[in-house]
Amino acid sequence: MKKKHTISRRALFALMSAAMLPPITVNAQLRRADVIVIGAGVAGLAAARKLRQANISAIVLEARTRVGGRVWTDRSWGYALDLGASWIHGVTNNPLSKLARDWRIATMPTDYEYAVLYDTNGRALSETRQVAIGDQLDALLEAAAARGERRSRDVALQTTLDELLRAENLSPSERRVFDQALNATIEHEYAADAAQLSLWHYDSARVFGGEDVLFPQGYDQIVRGLARSLDVRLDHVVRAVDFSKPEIRVSSSRGVYSARSVVMTLPLGVLKRGGLRFTPELPRAKQDAIAQLGMGLLNKVYLRFPRRFWQDEAELIGYIAERKGEWAEWLNIAAYSDEPVLLGFNAASYARKLETMSDTQVVAAAMSVLRTIYGSRIPLPEDSLITRWAADPYALGSYSFVAVGASGDDYDALADPVDQRLFFAGEATHRDYPSTVHGALLSGERAADEIIATV
Ligand SMILES: Cc1cc2nc3c(=O)[nH]c(=O)nc-3n(C[C@H](O)[C@H](O)[C@H](O)COP(=O)(O)OP(=O)(O)OC[C@H]3O[C@@H](n4cnc5c(N)ncnc54)[C@H](O)[C@@H]3O)c2cc1C
Repeated sequence: MKKKHTISRRALFALMSAAMLPPITVNAQLRRADVIVIGAGVAGLAAARKLRQANISAIVLEARTRVGGRVWTDRSWGYALDLGASWIHGVTNNPLSKLARDWRIATMPTDYEYAVLYDTNGRALSETRQVAIGDQLDALLEAAAARGERRSRDVALQTTLDELLRAENLSPSERRVFDQALNATIEHEYAADAAQLSLWHYDSARVFGGEDVLFPQGYDQIVRGLARSLDVRLDHVVRAVDFSKPEIRVSSSRGVYSARSVVMTLPLGVLKRGGLRFTPELPRAKQDAIAQLGMGLLNKVYLRFPRRFWQDEAELIGYIAERKGEWAEWLNIAAYSDEPVLLGFNAASYARKLETMSDTQVVAAAMSVLRTIYGSRIPLPEDSLITRWAADPYALGSYSFVAVGASGDDYDALADPVDQRLFFAGEATHRDYPSTVHGALLSGERAADEIIATV
């Protein structure tokens, strides 16, 4: 007997008013739709939502037992903490701002001016000194870009910075200061070492203006809004896509699905690993783009303390480590939720190293920095939440970056539809706004528009 999952009338009303979509009755036995969307992250959900608004049926297949992908809110401590994306980067004209407004989701700005910075021994640097460090970084990045224009081939950003720094004759402590600024500003943002980033193209993406805001009650509210009324099948690991015949066959851990079009939103890390078999093979240009773009790593460590021992007013707490890249930046969660929680960020090489360590070792490393700053008498954390995005088989990294030898063209190549039947979305397919939630959203909507144009 076919089992139908129906929704209560009240829930239907809520869904319709919130998402402006007609109700849907999901027939879980049905394995065919106009479109199969692979992946229920923001890109996949945005694609399915737009298709549904155009009366095109879509089934979303998702490997995990939750939606959202790299947007993932944890509530195990009784309040929301985002383990994946935190911010809407730039609220002005950002499509996520409109969704947050329409769905009445509370946001709070981050004020990067409220920042403190500590040296290796735990001494606070003056504000004037902090401004001077920022100016030095900006000047060197500009000089590196200017040098890049005169080069005949691309090199790593770090290579050119090292050339410029040689002329600056910095002392070891001055060099540590510069390294912290580079790490916290550039390497955290691009989730890659400067030694991996393309000098020519690492910052070629566009940005929305306005402030950055985060969601004190969790980014997953956006995901839930997008997922409303959609036919999402969780716990479906897709293993193969056969588009050799007019009807595309998608093989998953729970059987074969078919459609005339497919939207593929798998993270770049998963595509790089080749965990999915395509028949026929993907075009050369797409395979090259997958190989050339980098998949970066940014990880988070939340520590919950019995009480707050750090300053109230600071939103960001910086630390100039002995070794580059270690615990360079902390976010004061108490500024957003009143909870005595600190969030440490680590990116690239050091984030990879931390993934090889146990939770106890990671917390010990974090605490040694916090004790240097705030003294040996600070309390031990009551609990920790530690992400390991590189080890996550359905992400295999945090977000894409432009590696040496790659360029924005690779994002376009990854986005190009194959045969007007196999469509691509996901943050790594958006040339203008890669590596972001809004890029993922826009890429999903673009893929839906491409399909709508074919019917
Ligand atoms: C720690 C961290 C911090 C970040 N901070 C920010 C931020 O502050 N602001 C911002 O804008 N962006 C941020 N990002 C980036 C942002 O989260 C991503 O760009 C965006 O969420 C990607 O969405 P997506 O739909 O392209 O991919 P995903 O969300 O990864 O969706 C792809 C989906 O495919 C599924 N999948 C994988 N393999 C299979 C398979 N074989 N079969 C079926 N399904 C599969 C995955 O489970 C996933 O649900 C951050 C990311 C991380 C990890």
